[in-house]
Amino acid sequence: MALTFDDGPMASTAKLLDILAAGKVKATFFLVGQAVEEAPELVRREHADGHELANHSYSHADLGRSSSAKVTSELARTQAAIKRATGVTPTLMRPPYGSTDKQVATITKRMGLAQVLWTVDPLDWQSRNTKSVERKVVGETRPGYIVLMHDIHPSTVAAVPSILKRLAAKGYVFVTVSELYGKPLAPGRKYIER
Ligand SMILES: [Zn+2]
Repeated sequence: MALTFDDGPMASTAKLLDILAAGKVKATFFLVGQAVEEAPELVRREHADGHELANHSYSHADLGRSSSAKVTSELARTQAAIKRATGVTPTLMRPPYGSTDKQVATITKRMGLAQVLWTVDPLDWQSRNTKSVERKVVGETRPGYIVLMHDIHPSTVAAVPSILKRLAAKGYVFVTVSELYGKPLAPGRKYIER
């Protein structure tokens, strides 16, 4: 299964990276370009620790309701920010709010970005409740699933040690989204689970 963390990096990301490193776990980070520019050192650490870096727009924009020029600029500026910070050019993106349409599909295809949605959403941003996040993620995960969380909330980061422990006990292995599929994902196409 793949753990994914959206909207960072932020101060709480450093703690999450410690937790993931201690468990030798790899995850995928859907980064907001603006935040990358504010904390490039955290993105460099994500990359150095072996995590996958992906595009989550520049300003957390609703891409499904944006002009073609806006969608292109949101994605291109984030690609550039991640490249500048780490040398990496992402091949995955996640539209904020899951908001996508034909135009986003066309533009992401042209830019070499597959669209990665999710299978499990514990609504961590809403509840900000560590126990509830843990219960939902552990209870709802099945093989091949993609779990959506947010590393910008300390309440979510606090749930990760128990999530790792309980899912590992059930036999789950934590991989990046690209590893989950084991082959290049098709640009423009939407993926929600393997
Ligand atoms: Zn988001």
